[in-house]
Amino acid sequence: MKKVSQEKPLLTLIVPVYNEESSLNHFYDQTCKCTESMGVEIEFLFINDGSEDNTLEMLRQLCRRDSRVRYLSFSRNFGKEAAMYAGLQYAGGDYAAIMDADLQDPPELLPKMYDAVVAGDYDCAAARRVNRKGEGKIRSFCADCFYKIMTRLSGMNLMPGARDFQLMNRKMINAVLSLKEKSRFSKGIFEWVGFRKKWVEYENVERSSGCSKWSFGKLCRYALDGITSFSTLPLQAAFIPGMICWIAAVALLAVEISRFYVLSSDMRNWLLLFSFLMCLSGMQFFCMGIFGKYLGKTYEEVKHRPVYVMDECHLSERTEENEDEQNAK
Ligand code: UDP
Ligand code: MG
Repeated sequence: MKKVSQEKPLLTLIVPVYNEESSLNHFYDQTCKCTESMGVEIEFLFINDGSEDNTLEMLRQLCRRDSRVRYLSFSRNFGKEAAMYAGLQYAGGDYAAIMDADLQDPPELLPKMYDAVVAGDYDCAAARRVNRKGEGKIRSFCADCFYKIMTRLSGMNLMPGARDFQLMNRKMINAVLSLKEKSRFSKGIFEWVGFRKKWVEYENVERSSGCSKWSFGKLCRYALDGITSFSTLPLQAAFIPGMICWIAAVALLAVEISRFYVLSSDMRNWLLLFSFLMCLSGMQFFCMGIFGKYLGKTYEEVKHRPVYVMDECHLSERTEENEDEQNAK
């Protein structure tokens, strides 16, 4: 049995697994091979996300074979986001990397990613696919559209092709964990917390075995979760058509009234009624937009995200004392 030594820094590999009996051993062997010459201690932390196949039993066997292997097992399938969150919570390492079990996140990239972070120039090294070779055309198209819409709505620069395969230092792990929201969209969270990030590019790799656990419906829900977690704009969307409707109705009314007074032509009752109705529904939309604005603010508050994320601080002794006093209160 392999033993854990305490001298080197520890890198926790967080691996969510859901029905991965066909990929698990291959993933473990490949990752061991790719990481053996890295100057870091490795710890595997598998999160069994309610697998119905033999995955859990295989994890137990791996634990018996290798003391560096640990696992958490959920009572049912809670989704990859929940598994990643649990993984980050239970990761004991100075560094942690999130990886898929199907080898679509190539373990060969780990040494390069680790070197970038350990050198201190970056807090995170993130893998990015430069193409989607081998993936279905419709799925690629929908994914591209999603990232464009998401970037527009959230105002964050979501890198196309970015994966959850990110290696981060303890500072960034703690920042990610400080966002305790239940409906999680990690790709957005990793961007939201900031820090210096190095992008490591690679060509898409097809699944080693088995099939994707994401149905089209699951992907749509994931996309909606992403958008609603990082943008309240859809809530306020009624504001603009409301304004347009209202302005158009007032303009129509003004034209009709001037026709009546200047050209002495008859009032067209249907137009008066039409602009009155338009004005009314415009006001309703406008009010919905305002409700949306308040609801959006309430939504932001209940997420309890930190107001800021600290990277470094250098304070005078007196300020530090004051801070300690405030914290004590
Ligand atoms: N996964 C999970 N829970 C789920 C779906 C997926 O833990 O509900 C895991 C899965 O076992 C794999 C990773 O998340 O290790 C990525 O899943 P998959 O390969 O199916 O996603 P894709 O690569 O098709 O986006
Ligand atoms: Mg995959």
